[in-house]
Amino acid sequence: MPSDSNAQFRSIPSMDELLNTPWALKFSASLGREQVKTAITEALEKIRRELCAGASVSSQSAAELVLLRVSSMLRKRAASTLKPVVNATGVIVHTNLGRAPLAREALEAAGAIAGTYSTLEYSPEEGGRNGRNSHIEWLICQITGAEAALAVNNNAAAVLLALSALAAGREVVVSCGELVEIGGSFRIPDILAFSGASMRVAGCTNSVRIDDYSSAITENTAALLKVHPSNYRIEGFVKQVSRKELAELAASRALVLIEDLGSGLLCPLNVPFAEREHSVRECLQGGSTIVTFSGDKLLGGPQIGIIAGSKLLIDKMRQHQLLRALRVDKMTLAAFEATLRLYLTGRHGEIPVIRMVEADADTLLKKARNLCRLLRSAAVNAGANDFGFSVVETRDAVGGGAFPVDTLAGFGVAIRSDSMNAESIAAALRTASVPIIPAVREEQAVLHVRALLFGDEKRIAASFTEIAERR
Ligand SMILES: *Cc1c(COP(=O)(O)O)cnc(C)c1O
Repeated sequence: MPSDSNAQFRSIPSMDELLNTPWALKFSASLGREQVKTAITEALEKIRRELCAGASVSSQSAAELVLLRVSSMLRKRAASTLKPVVNATGVIVHTNLGRAPLAREALEAAGAIAGTYSTLEYSPEEGGRNGRNSHIEWLICQITGAEAALAVNNNAAAVLLALSALAAGREVVVSCGELVEIGGSFRIPDILAFSGASMRVAGCTNSVRIDDYSSAITENTAALLKVHPSNYRIEGFVKQVSRKELAELAASRALVLIEDLGSGLLCPLNVPFAEREHSVRECLQGGSTIVTFSGDKLLGGPQIGIIAGSKLLIDKMRQHQLLRALRVDKMTLAAFEATLRLYLTGRHGEIPVIRMVEADADTLLKKARNLCRLLRSAAVNAGANDFGFSVVETRDAVGGGAFPVDTLAGFGVAIRSDSMNAESIAAALRTASVPIIPAVREEQAVLHVRALLFGDEKRIAASFTEIAERR
């Protein structure tokens, strides 16, 4: 141990002294005194260990070191980690960024129900219990033409419940080219196994014929499963079986045709490649007995999973134990009901996801020019004259597994700097107090305007000012 180490140890302030410093008192108010105490203890122990190991610090810097370490640790803990960001990636349904931002009506409905008692499972007319599913079932049936509908936590849960209720202990036939994995954790073979059904694979990766399906059917088969190949497409020689053929085969063998549609498109979209994505109504009309889909992808609502179709089969799912574990929360139901009412009344153009998908080139170009102007003036005001901004063309994506290959022509603002490369510009934007998430391409950080929400241009300019001044 160095000879002056005793003096060094003594120079470390005591817990009591530290707890009464203004910064500790401030953190105590936001995090609680115990958390501050724990953080100080950890920092003190670490410094003592370093001194024992021969490190040397002056008496002044021991106190400073504790303060520095404790305050950076506490600052991180005092801030919420789940917070708003600006999505400038050009991907509309971005799973990592929370998928669909809700329409105003949906937000208001969720807020109104969250802080009060409600008719969640209660009928005022009857003075007694009513199922929570009742709030949305009629709406789904009206919008999709389904006989019955059931809501669960997400589409993964919808597929699991449908398979568990209809095919546990029996076989399900699925095409080899549809054994998809979505988001790393949803894998068709695994969900099938978990539901208790066994999988019979029909055809090859790129080619499946109706005969492949019929020869895979045994007396123990319960269902045919059709899965939307959400996040990929097979190119080249591809042979697939139409929904109509599958439906005819299922009907002739008294089987159920379950379709996992992924994104729940409820109305025709006004985009060039829209005909490739079938709506829930089209799938049901086309012969699928049961269709499952997400609420927070193309539909533009909260995270929810819907099972729609045959009343007989959905009644069976209502009796299943699993439903209790997958049931939907009241705020979600309120937001979803409000979103569905926008479809019912033909106002789905007000849903942010739909508005973003259908946004025309003119609107996007205007947005990009406006953003470019705001950024230029923010740079002038911050004296950041090493930055350059230009309006550029972009390729945007629907995301969430709809249209995996087709992109949408859009606009954005490219940011260049003489002193920072694209990756460091992007990193600085991402770590601003309101994080801005850009795309990085060809050595440029690009802010796509398609998925920007009201007020985001100002947020971007403010974050840019912050990072320009932070340098
Ligand atoms: C997205 C998707 C799922 C999973 O839906 P979640 O709502 O995220 O649970 C399942 N199947 C398909 C085909 C999908 O596209």
